[in-house]
Amino acid sequence: MKAIAQSKGRKSPKWQKVVGVLLGLYLSACSPSDGSSNDGKPNVVTTSTVINDWTQRVGGDEIELTGILQPGADPHVYEPVPKDSIAFEKADLIIYNGYNLEPGLIKMMNAAGVNARKLAVGEVVQPLQLDKGGKTVPDPHVWGDVENAIVMVNAIRDELIKLSPEDKAEFTQNAAEFTAQLKQLDSWTTQQIATIPKDKRRLVTTHDAFQYYSKAYGLEVFGTLIGISTEEQPSAQTVRKLSDSIRQTGVPAIFAETTINPALIKTVAQESGAKLAPRSLYSDSIGAPGSDGDSYIKMIETNTRTIVEALGGTYTPVNIPKVTILLDHGYHPDKLTVALQAIYPQVMTKIRFQLAPKPTKAEKAAQGKAGFVPIATRWVIERSNAGIERCKSLVKNFERTLSHATSKLNLCFIRLMLKRLATNIDPK
Ligand SMILES: [Zn+2]
Repeated sequence: MKAIAQSKGRKSPKWQKVVGVLLGLYLSACSPSDGSSNDGKPNVVTTSTVINDWTQRVGGDEIELTGILQPGADPHVYEPVPKDSIAFEKADLIIYNGYNLEPGLIKMMNAAGVNARKLAVGEVVQPLQLDKGGKTVPDPHVWGDVENAIVMVNAIRDELIKLSPEDKAEFTQNAAEFTAQLKQLDSWTTQQIATIPKDKRRLVTTHDAFQYYSKAYGLEVFGTLIGISTEEQPSAQTVRKLSDSIRQTGVPAIFAETTINPALIKTVAQESGAKLAPRSLYSDSIGAPGSDGDSYIKMIETNTRTIVEALGGTYTPVNIPKVTILLDHGYHPDKLTVALQAIYPQVMTKIRFQLAPKPTKAEKAAQGKAGFVPIATRWVIERSNAGIERCKSLVKNFERTLSHATSKLNLCFIRLMLKRLATNIDPK
């Protein structure tokens, strides 16, 4: 109760009141027989923070999720600890990147005693082949292209459905919402990079993690200090050669990365006369909670902003509302928006409305109906009781999972308010 009042009270006293009423309803409706543990939920373990973020979005509250790498950790050089081995042994499903992104964890995962299903989600994407010391190897940084992310998110959805078929509807809905946002992010990124003058669309980073990003959005990887793994150390000669070519071609800015010590790239900046971009790029990990890169979407958004601003483009913030809410055909999203904003002024930064498609003649005929036929439930997002049940268990458990639960709770309340408003708004 306390945490909700704190997080929401600032914004609108009226909202707080509504929340209080709703919360009261929840708690009184809550059956005490519900177990408060996560019994029955499959244990899913992920390696990289990017994969963890995707799996969280698709799995929602139907899975028990453990992420091994923490934000800011470098997967190339991560050395597993005993706790990781226990997580792997308890897992029903392990989702990892593959293409040797996380060699230490892959080795441990393949050890005896690990019986989980495994999904090398990065390997569902056709890789770029790069030269590494005369050998051709697949480049593991597949998430740089948001279209690849969509493919991988769908692969996670399919694997979760195999793991827990009874949650198919939830996983499908979650993945559809998320990939709709990713599509917006993908086209926005293309537009943003296109604002950089053509001769400046050149990227210099510490390690070679931006090939997919560059190829997808129209940049040239002009140079990197080290290759696709951070295990290597650049030679003094490499530093000098890179600095010289940057100076000769007039690359305006170069970039440090959040997972790597910036000392050497700073040297390159000094020697070449190029500016070091004021923000580091998120390469192999999302940022810490509360940072400007604390989700996959925010990581791509912030990287794009950093690149566009440093290379002389014109940055326009992306506008990806968090949740698409399908409305029964016949509602007026504009009226609903006004009504909602009166209660919760920021609500439209979190959600967006979309009218549900009209049922076809054939679909109506199949139900023996004609004319205006409302969809089964007015608020499609609450099409089952599962959503309500989830809110209840979150309220009950939120002390344990506070940071995560707070945002989920807020979302639950918005959904419930929509239901409430639905009874007051004339659909015609
Ligand atoms: Zn990397």
